[in-house]
Amino acid sequence: MNLPKDFVTYTSVLFGPQRWERFMHACEEPAPVSVRLNPWKTDNEVLFPHQQPIPWCKEGYWLPQRPNFTLDPLFHAGAYYVQEAGSLFLDHVLRTHVKTPVSVLDLCAAPGGKSTLMRAALPEGAVLVSNEVDRRRASILMENMQKQGHPDVLVTHNLPRDFQKTNLVFDVILTDVPCSGEGLFRRDENTINEWSLSNVHMCQKRQREILTDIWSCLRTGGLLIYSTCTFNTHENEENVRWICEELGAEILPVSIQPEWNITGSLLSGFEVPVYRFIPGATKSEGLFMAILRKISDGPTCATLPKSLRGQVKGTPLIHLLSDGIPLGEQKGKEVIPTTAQALSLATSPNAYPHVELSLEEARRYLHRESFILPADAPRGFVIVTYQKHPLGFMKNLGDRANNLYPKNWAIKKLV
Ligand code: SAM
Repeated sequence: MNLPKDFVTYTSVLFGPQRWERFMHACEEPAPVSVRLNPWKTDNEVLFPHQQPIPWCKEGYWLPQRPNFTLDPLFHAGAYYVQEAGSLFLDHVLRTHVKTPVSVLDLCAAPGGKSTLMRAALPEGAVLVSNEVDRRRASILMENMQKQGHPDVLVTHNLPRDFQKTNLVFDVILTDVPCSGEGLFRRDENTINEWSLSNVHMCQKRQREILTDIWSCLRTGGLLIYSTCTFNTHENEENVRWICEELGAEILPVSIQPEWNITGSLLSGFEVPVYRFIPGATKSEGLFMAILRKISDGPTCATLPKSLRGQVKGTPLIHLLSDGIPLGEQKGKEVIPTTAQALSLATSPNAYPHVELSLEEARRYLHRESFILPADAPRGFVIVTYQKHPLGFMKNLGDRANNLYPKNWAIKKLV
């Protein structure tokens, strides 16, 4: 791998010789593959039996190699999410620090890896607002959240500073901020080409702006989870120290096991519990995470989870893209049900008849082809399933069945 010279100079010193050598060695190897199961849709005995559990995530597993996820109907059914092992550490953090139903904001949420994880790890009764500033990425976020199937999620498309102008207050905010992406070097060559020291400093500046913009929406005593997928201390420890000193927070620890090989602070003189996942040391791509509790003055109570939905909807400044499970669309005399309804955990299994598809049919369905369902399949709207997992709707006319899978969700190629 052709790494930028300034990156090598800086990071080899930061890591020290041993860690650097192991990192360089890991960079030449294929990235580990990991998945997180959707606890409401499947359990591991069925889907990935005998795989290696990831110890810091209840539903996480490493796979020995990368299957073709695109061609697996269960992936599209939201039965699991393909997710980098380091980012699954958020599961351990939430299960340690969040035990009651809370109001949660995931500020930089697309494509939705950490939002889908949060929804699964949060106690029932919690309500999650998943926000993304980029419109195209927000659509992908919405798709992933709908595949997850949980109704207590609102997807919004706003700038961080928009929230400041509302009355919304959260118990927990995740800022998985845009960063220089050093942890993506192995996966995405573009991040190598875009990397420079000046970009690192520009990222640090933008991260501080984002944090400043959202700080007043966290209640005093509430949790800020700060994460990046980069290794340098400018975007990590320096920002954590800045949050503590300038915004007013204290750092909270979580228990970790020595065999997880998580690296702590690399900023000299800043010996606090922060968590860094370095390839070669930890079986992951790269992640930094810190857990902070707000101690500065601010609102003392968050918006109650049960009022959050109403408040978001009643705030014109908030651009709400989806509220839980979008229901059917009136077309002429008919209400056309949405794919989100089929995938929703809240839809009663008896609301529509189910028709089981073979693997080949399920792939053709996800490719948005129309085909004939078995002669005994009920007429009208049916939920098509693969291994009993709903994939979406078809309208069965007998001599053919119309495919209602969303165009922008469809898989492009079947090979
Ligand atoms: N949390 C996501 C996940 O786990 O799937 C990954 C988030 S990615 C690291 C950072 C996100 O921040 C991107 O989706 C990007 O569009 C968004 N972003 C970029 N600039 C931003 C800004 N100024 N304020 C807020 N979000 C921003």
